[in-house]
Amino acid sequence: MTSDDHVDGNAVGGRLIDAFGREMTDMRGCCSACGAVNAFGALIAYTHAPGDVLRCPVCESVVLVAVAMPAGVRVSFAALRWMQPAP
Ligand SMILES: [Zn+2]
Repeated sequence: MTSDDHVDGNAVGGRLIDAFGREMTDMRGCCSACGAVNAFGALIAYTHAPGDVLRCPVCESVVLVAVAMPAGVRVSFAALRWMQPAP
């Protein structure tokens, strides 16, 4: 899903590698608001905010925010019930 103001979660893959030290776009996560399970790469990404905002493609809740700080990338899991590597 892409438009002028958002792209898919693959667009923030590099920042997530900076934070976690591994490829994260294939990581599956469960939205705590609606229970939808999606790969991080399938989330809706807004990259024009001060940080990268990943929203659930079903209910649009903010699942994850990644912000580049002077000491490293800070990740907030706003509406992530769980995450699990792809099988
Ligand atoms: Zn959701």
